[in-house]
Amino acid sequence: MVQKPIRLADRVLQVPPSPTLAVNAKAKALKAAGEDILNFSVGEPDFDTPEHIREAGKKAIDEGQTRYTAVPGIPELREAVAMRCKADHGWDYSPEQIQICCGGKHGLYNIFQALLNHGDEVLIPAPYWVSYPPMVQLADGVPVEVPLDEAANFDLNPTTLVAKASEKTRAIFLNSPSNPAGSVFSHEALKAVAAMALERGWLVVSDDIYETITYMDGKLPHILDVEPRLKEQTVVLNGVSKAFAMTGWRIGWCAGPAHLIKAMNKVQSQSTSNCSTPAQYAALAALIGPQDFPSEMKKAFLPRRDFFVRDLESIEGVSCVNPSGAFYVFPNFSAYYGKSFKGKVLNNSVDMADYFLEEAKVASVPGAAFGADAFVRFSFATSMAVIEEGMARIKKALAALEG
Ligand code: PMP
Ligand code: GLU
Repeated sequence: MVQKPIRLADRVLQVPPSPTLAVNAKAKALKAAGEDILNFSVGEPDFDTPEHIREAGKKAIDEGQTRYTAVPGIPELREAVAMRCKADHGWDYSPEQIQICCGGKHGLYNIFQALLNHGDEVLIPAPYWVSYPPMVQLADGVPVEVPLDEAANFDLNPTTLVAKASEKTRAIFLNSPSNPAGSVFSHEALKAVAAMALERGWLVVSDDIYETITYMDGKLPHILDVEPRLKEQTVVLNGVSKAFAMTGWRIGWCAGPAHLIKAMNKVQSQSTSNCSTPAQYAALAALIGPQDFPSEMKKAFLPRRDFFVRDLESIEGVSCVNPSGAFYVFPNFSAYYGKSFKGKVLNNSVDMADYFLEEAKVASVPGAAFGADAFVRFSFATSMAVIEEGMARIKKALAALEG
């Protein structure tokens, strides 16, 4: 008898594995096999976690902080998150309005598990971070893309928003600065979102994971500053991964209405219990200690961004919005679609990124993964030398295309 493979859930079959993590794994494997790969794929700071934070993690282990904690996190860390919300933004949150989760990604998972019923719709401005639609689908919801225009610097157009909203809309994602384009939403766009969210009772999910990495003059516009009355309808998502180069520690948090956080705690209690205990103490040191680390990283990121954007823009047919934050460039290569190399036609961003990997040994993430097929994403959280060499290879690869 031939045994049939165990049947899998439809819910899982409808989503892909994270493409950013998949490309990163492929690039690392090729590198380990001796290939000269330049890796621009995954988005994580190329810095070590600051020493005082590492020490706090080690101290926690040595002092026996190795047991379960309260489901929503240790009280000191929740208080520290509340303190940062107040000190950095003037927002008042009590510890019951805060959940510590296993990275921002896990916070999103908890939000949608707690929020959605079958068929509920969630508005997702596109280009979006790769995990937003699958998070919604895994909670039985329906992701609805709201296209953003490159010519408008990927700002949100209120008319498009109205066209995509429906009776079934329950929530909207905001990510500013954004992954993958590093774009920020204008005050006017946020005002339009706020008016609709208030009128229709949507939850606003404000993913602020890149808020400390901005290159703009003046204050980053935020939905809660634009419309403070939205506080009971907003969940703010953040974490230490990007701001403190702590991607592997897996600590994030959500701040929002107490009843939503309570429901999310229920989900967490039945899934992960709590986040790693020593990592919570390390995150505590990050939040109550010196806050200048993101600025230090920015000093390194800024010249890389400037070089990358200038060099991309100098290529015939390529455009690239200057990112106002985060550490990604998102150039438009669609003028090269339809061209070929050794008889193989490059039709889309997946073909383009494959071509860069195979012929230029440059790892990038196709824009299709972010809901924007004209583009390819490169992380500039890597050295200037790698960026210079990578750009030389990209230009050579583009010049070799025919048609
Ligand atoms: N939101 C965005 C837009 C991101 O790019 C990331 C990066 N992975 C996250 C959330 C979550 O990060 P983490 O789970 O490492 O906190
Ligand atoms: N957010 C990063 C990226 O987009 C990390 C990888 C992931 O979790 O997607 O590359």
